[in-house]
Amino acid sequence: MEVISSPALAVERLTKSYGDGTLALDELSLVVPAGSFFGLLGPNGAGKTTLIGSLSGLVRAPAGHISVFGHDPVSDPAARLLVGLAPQEIHLDRFLSARDLLAYHGRYFGMRRAEAEARADELLDIFDLGGKAQSKPQRLSGGMRRRLLIARALVHRPRLLVLDEPTAGVDLELRHELWRYLQRLQGEEGVTVLLTTHYIEEAEALCEVVALIRGGRIIDEGAPVELVSRYGGGTLEDAYQAAMRG
Ligand code: ADP
Repeated sequence: MEVISSPALAVERLTKSYGDGTLALDELSLVVPAGSFFGLLGPNGAGKTTLIGSLSGLVRAPAGHISVFGHDPVSDPAARLLVGLAPQEIHLDRFLSARDLLAYHGRYFGMRRAEAEARADELLDIFDLGGKAQSKPQRLSGGMRRRLLIARALVHRPRLLVLDEPTAGVDLELRHELWRYLQRLQGEEGVTVLLTTHYIEEAEALCEVVALIRGGRIIDEGAPVELVSRYGGGTLEDAYQAAMRG
């Protein structure tokens, strides 16, 4: 029951400095409610990647507290199973076909072979990659690779999907297709989606709540309409610019 009642992500005064003294997270606090579509917006260097690394257990923050559905991402293996991460950079094993790539990922997360293969086929179908099941990544278009990356993040049925710039370099039509799919995933399957994006209008279209991050801290958060009325201007982009200047 703990898993159901806990927020998808709870971060409390998380602080992280890198070896060269850069303070990437400065007592950052944030709650991402379970089942929400949540946006994290901020300029380069704001700390987004460090925060995502911390919730996936890849980055250790020495001070503060972070939990994923109530589990510690560093010490509790349950947290790893609850998170699906689609990173910004596309790294896909060039020797594996799209289907094998997904199935291997499932095996890595402890699925039986038949289950992993069935899940791979299901995701290839959902992401309209069925015709490319046997193709290796270098034979796929950029948009297809981007879809494959999101499919891979979903193989083990995570309850929190983290998307770092999911539509960077993706054409408008595909971007809207991805939006529709992500909305279904959140609306119908109850998956929490945490999104970082440079396309502010993407966050405005998709996110119920947006947190603005700058200098390793959350400087404000709210529903896009709330932020627009708080900062003035007609769009979230205007509000974002005003908040970042302030
Ligand atoms: P964002 O994803 O919002 O661009 P990052 O989390 O990548 O922000 O970076 C936050 C800050 O930490 C930046 O000042 C960045 O230069 C610094 N930083 C990130 N990774 C490292 C690292 N491995 N070593 C030193 N500094 C880093």
